Amino acid sequence: MRKLIVANYKMNGDSALYTSIVKKLNKIKMLDTSVVLCPPFVYLDLFRLKNKKISLGVQDISNQINHKSTGQISPHMLNEFSVKYSIVGHSERRALGENDDLINQKVKLCIESDIVPIICVGENEKDENVDLIQNQVSSAISKVKRSSKIILAYEPVWAIGTGEIPSVEYINKQVSLVRKLLKKKRFNDFLILYGGSVDEDNYANLLGADIDGFLLGGVSLRLDEFLKIVKGVDNA
Ligand code: PEP
Repeated sequence: MRKLIVANYKMNGDSALYTSIVKKLNKIKMLDTSVVLCPPFVYLDLFRLKNKKISLGVQDISNQINHKSTGQISPHMLNEFSVKYSIVGHSERRALGENDDLINQKVKLCIESDIVPIICVGENEKDENVDLIQNQVSSAISKVKRSSKIILAYEPVWAIGTGEIPSVEYINKQVSLVRKLLKKKRFNDFLILYGGSVDEDNYANLLGADIDGFLLGGVSLRLDEFLKIVKGVDNA
């Protein structure tokens, strides 16, 4: 089964680390798994990827193309660096005040710019009302053409960076809501990832959930462990 793994490096690392990550990842072989690497913007130029299974992504994108946008990075600039994906609406950005409307603008701008949005959704507390996820998904894809390619990352906020992992049944319950909603809106080119404290000890069990891959945070920086997960997923 084809799977996707997205590495979110967040605000970590330095040139030396990313140079060694790129060197190693350029050599790995995968059959059915693709990888998207999302470094901090300032290191994009170090990611000269020579492995067809690996693409470049970013952790956020501007919601506008207006040049009067101090501190923002436009899709055009990302296109120049061959960026193909952007995480949108990560919970760490939502916590800074990013709302559903802004996320929807970013999703639409990604699609107009040939960048696939990786839209993060997830409840803050365990067993929180499922309406929240449905609202997050509906509003993120509002007025987005249903022929667009999109990726949804189900990331329960309580599992991100905490070491606490939902059961496969719990993930399936939430993911099936997302899947039903996307099908009802007649999207047919989408993947659904799981993210939150995935590591070498739990990924194999989590693969039993109805997901198309993982969004990885902390473990992306531990190269040997990251590679074990990539190989394990590819061989599953
Ligand atoms: C994330 O921040 O998207 C994430 C999945 O982090 P971690 O894997 O560290 O929980």
